Amino acid sequence: MSADTDTSVQPAVFIGHGSPMNTLELNRWTLAWRELGATLPRPRAVLVVSAHWFIGHSAITAMERPRTIHDFYGFPSELFAFEYPAPGAPAVAEEVAAALAPSWVGLDRDSWGIDHGAWSVLAHLLPDADVPILQLSVDATKTWDQHLELGRRLAGLRHEGVLVVASGNVVHNFRFADWSKVDAAHGWAESFDDAVRAAMTTDPAVVGGLAAHDAYHLAVPTPDHYMPLAYVAGVAVEEGLAARVVTDGHAYGSFSMAAYSVG
Ligand code: ZN
Repeated sequence: MSADTDTSVQPAVFIGHGSPMNTLELNRWTLAWRELGATLPRPRAVLVVSAHWFIGHSAITAMERPRTIHDFYGFPSELFAFEYPAPGAPAVAEEVAAALAPSWVGLDRDSWGIDHGAWSVLAHLLPDADVPILQLSVDATKTWDQHLELGRRLAGLRHEGVLVVASGNVVHNFRFADWSKVDAAHGWAESFDDAVRAAMTTDPAVVGGLAAHDAYHLAVPTPDHYMPLAYVAGVAVEEGLAARVVTDGHAYGSFSMAAYSVG
């Protein structure tokens, strides 16, 4: 551990990442991410749970030099040229795997890296790219409750200088996107987002019950962007804390930009 490493308690944060273009833009959301990053004690490492590593098992990146992955198409060349050259931290990967036991987590030494769900947010949260980054996959075979349990097991790491960043979107539905509603929402999107905010800021243990909400299937047509929230809710439950709203709002009718911080 180096002398400049701060091991003060880190929060766990959930960030609605929205369009990859947020990487390059300064807008109300990315400015809020920047402000949050500027107030953080310097983490020893960052563990990112990204919607864009949604696979059939749990894995954690454990390479010295994770590559920047451009996992999208149809965006301007500046975005394909973007690099987030942060180091990895294989030893911290083993700590995370141990914290998640008895759930098995594979150590990924040469496959994944830092995907755009991670770097679109990290570009603002930690723009210097000098803190080691690890990514934890979202296991598509697990339920909300199982993801929440994994989140609970991560809570102790925040006392060891590890910042947990979950990156997804509470509401994420391309089918109902309305590109004319730049920063507005459909009624059902707002209704579900409001319900999640009420739960996260009072009793994060009840977020899982929102699968019964009228708008759940419109807001969460596939679980990839929603499940990262379970990790931050899990930290909150384990620590007996409620979440603070970092930013809220909507993009293109059917994407929530809500971001939360715990601790
Ligand atoms: Zn995404």
